[in-house]
Amino acid sequence: MPNLRVVACLAFLPCVLATPLHSQTNGSDSNDVDRLIAAILGDTPLIDDLQALTDKIGGRATGSEANLRSVEWALQRFQHAGVSASKEGFMMPALWLERSASATLRGEGVSFSPKVAAMPWSAATAPDGDSYPLVDAGTGSADDFDRLGATARGALLLVETPMLTDIAGLFVEYTEAAMIEQRAAEANAAGVVYMASRPSNTLYRHNASYGPGNQRPMLVLERDAALRALRLLRRGTALTLDVTLDIDSGPEYESYNVIGEIRGSTRPDEIVIMGAHLDAWDLGTGALDNGANVAMMIDIARQIRRLGLEPARTIRFALWNGEEQGLVGSYGYTLSHQDELDDHVMAGSVDIGCGRINGFFTGGRPEIIPALDRTLEPVEGLGPFQHIDVPIVGTDNYDFMLEGVANIVANHEPATYGPNYHARSDQFHQCDSQQLRLNAAIVAAVVYGFAEVDVDWTRQTRAEIEELMSASDLEQQMRTFGLWEAWEDGSRGRSN
Ligand SMILES: [Zn+2]
Repeated sequence: MPNLRVVACLAFLPCVLATPLHSQTNGSDSNDVDRLIAAILGDTPLIDDLQALTDKIGGRATGSEANLRSVEWALQRFQHAGVSASKEGFMMPALWLERSASATLRGEGVSFSPKVAAMPWSAATAPDGDSYPLVDAGTGSADDFDRLGATARGALLLVETPMLTDIAGLFVEYTEAAMIEQRAAEANAAGVVYMASRPSNTLYRHNASYGPGNQRPMLVLERDAALRALRLLRRGTALTLDVTLDIDSGPEYESYNVIGEIRGSTRPDEIVIMGAHLDAWDLGTGALDNGANVAMMIDIARQIRRLGLEPARTIRFALWNGEEQGLVGSYGYTLSHQDELDDHVMAGSVDIGCGRINGFFTGGRPEIIPALDRTLEPVEGLGPFQHIDVPIVGTDNYDFMLEGVANIVANHEPATYGPNYHARSDQFHQCDSQQLRLNAAIVAAVVYGFAEVDVDWTRQTRAEIEELMSASDLEQQMRTFGLWEAWEDGSRGRSN
């Protein structure tokens, strides 16, 4: 149906129209996929949904009121689209939310009060604040800690960071932070203050600790003030940091994933799950991470339903919760759906913002790639696509990988993702809405394709997962994210 796409497409997509999206047929269902893609490229509520989730509900850290509102909003959006949806409970290990954070730097003849943010799982201070000597910890390297020696004890360590520009830099930031935290603990430091790695004094927060067991204050200090403090320290002015961190903390509690389902027509017991996480750190409003792709999931489900399409397999659209606090919601799903995991044909995640999807991480499972490429044929005009066949840790494919379920993660051109990652500046206007719509078409083709395509893989055994670990840097990644122990002791991941 060549004209349908022309009718349905947006005015801003002439370049796409000039290039056929679909250069060859791939079986009896290609019409369905084409109709789905055309619908998604049309006038749908995708962008309005993103705007509502970000501008109205806003930042929505798991455990917050806003997060509960986002769960109800997502349920309602699925149901309004006629998609059967439910919220599924799982347990969060502990509550952690920042209420407020403030700081003043004092030295002889010097006093200034820059903005700070608490890192996740930071300890609170006394209600009226605590004071610590602030020392120059360089970049937090082993050499820097040698130089500090006993002066690290009881002090807050100010760590200099490079400016973050891209996703590669982000992985470095996580890896460095994990080592710095370990060194700080060994040196009996009071805590760590990270120079913000973002331009324009943008603040952000993300996990750098070992999670809820952390006992020390952990801060991000706006970049210009951190540079000023380092200059003062390096020219001999001793500094004290007065800091007040008001943290809402508590024991384990229940949170919710929202799962929308399109029941399969001929192979309903086989499941393709595609997800994005609903929770978002609360300095910004979580558009790039990950409201955009939440809105995408809802819109794909909506269009499948609206067109009355009947995929062979069951498709589940998962809006995960607790992702930012340890991938907890998707972990909870793998526990509560343990009996069905053998029947999960594919688990996909979209979590790297709004830049063009340029391929997928295929998890070190080369057998996936030919099938994935078949699913992408209807959108080849939106390519090229280049897959990276390595396992990655850091989003909701993780527990599926540890359970041996075939999994993919969309890879994206960096666009605006890096500098705004978990930051105040992660707002609606950072997402290129035209590109988001094209990405939705790509993911729609993939998810619908996997609900139809013949696959020749099964769930991996623990031995096969271990083989994957030894053939990749998976163990190192797991250690960086503080996830290795739970796999090793058998409490998380496939046991046999
Ligand atoms: Zn994310």
